[in-house]
Amino acid sequence: MGARILAGAPAAQAILAQASQRAVKLPDRPHLVLVRAGTDPASLSYVRGKQRHADIAGLRSTVHALPESVTLPELLALIATLNADRDVHGILIQLPLPAHLPVALLQEAVDPRKDVDGFHPLNVGRLWTGGGGSDHPLLAPCTPLGVLALLRHYEIPVAGRRAVVVGRSDIVGRPMAAVLLGADATVTVAHRQTSDLGAVTREADVLVVAAGQPWLMTPDMVRPGAAVVDVGIHRIPGDGHQLHLTGDVHPEVANVAGALTPVPGGVGPLTVAQLMLNTVIAAERQIDWRAV
Ligand code: NDP
Repeated sequence: MGARILAGAPAAQAILAQASQRAVKLPDRPHLVLVRAGTDPASLSYVRGKQRHADIAGLRSTVHALPESVTLPELLALIATLNADRDVHGILIQLPLPAHLPVALLQEAVDPRKDVDGFHPLNVGRLWTGGGGSDHPLLAPCTPLGVLALLRHYEIPVAGRRAVVVGRSDIVGRPMAAVLLGADATVTVAHRQTSDLGAVTREADVLVVAAGQPWLMTPDMVRPGAAVVDVGIHRIPGDGHQLHLTGDVHPEVANVAGALTPVPGGVGPLTVAQLMLNTVIAAERQIDWRAV
């Protein structure tokens, strides 16, 4: 029997609908500012996708495209200006940045109230504090929030279940663990130093794989009936000269898992939809001080 396929699009549509319904209630349309530097084609295409989704959700968006040679003081000055601008509600620094720019320092320069990526240390700390829970409207990283929204959309139970996250990056693995913990799962985080990875992942009722390794997760590493979320995205050679997209989970896992996200069409659409909702949440807090 094949796994139930958890398509991301319907869950992403629901997040975008929520973002636009909340946006129209505000006196000003939420305004997202995207800052990018250099010529990296991936960064360019991510920014275009985010602007398109901002349009769909009824948000305003502005792009600051800076040359490869932009200096740290120049970028810090721009961020300071955006922080002070009451008409800007969300600031996103698009990665990858040119190598000479210190990413963490720039992320820390963003006003935490406008930090729609949820990468500022204050927001990271808030995510790990116990009081808020996963539904608390703080600014947390978009991919983990999107994954939780996907699980909820398909009514996959999380509370009281064993969740395993493969990967401990600041962008996906760690915040994913915090979000699942906030949703009352019992969480284990695996990484490269984990011994007998398969023994750990076979414990999971909910398995989130964000390792950045094509087909790392094979059927023998998955508990029969588990819900498997594949965050990985890889372009691998297909037939002829075509590149095709695949994830961290081997396609044959569909024969073992109870539910599985596809790649493409799984987690991808949720990340950008959640960014729009984060921008609306940020705007709600800045426009109505009582919501802080
Ligand atoms: P990173 O490379 O920053 O982190 C990968 C993590 O996986 C590390 O913690 C690493 O462990 C762990 N890991 C790598 N190989 C293994 C292994 N063989 N066994 C166990 N753990 C392993 O990647 P990201 O978190 O940024 O991204 C992960 C994947 O998700 C990528 O494919 C990326 O493209 C994709 N992605 C998709 C998004 C989406 O919207 N769908 C958004 C963001 C990312 P260690 O710490 O020990 O090195």
